[in-house]
Amino acid sequence: MARNKYPGTCYSCGKYTPPGYGHFERYMGGWRVKCVKCASGRILTDKDKGVIWAQKAAKSQEAKAALGQVGGGDA
Ligand SMILES: [Zn+2]
Repeated sequence: MARNKYPGTCYSCGKYTPPGYGHFERYMGGWRVKCVKCASGRILTDKDKGVIWAQKAAKSQEAKAALGQVGGGDA
């Protein structure tokens, strides 16, 4: 599973899940997020590599969106 690049609400515990603090899954033609705590029981901090990656990815995605270069939701 890949880390979520976008914030969402964990479908398991209902908690807000910032970028990198969960995993995303294809679901009913969209995406849903499960937080890392529900997925593996780990508690993440903003020092976690996956969190750092996702927050960077989210930022570069925003930059691309501003330039109109975003294509699809593939990951
Ligand atoms: Zn959860």
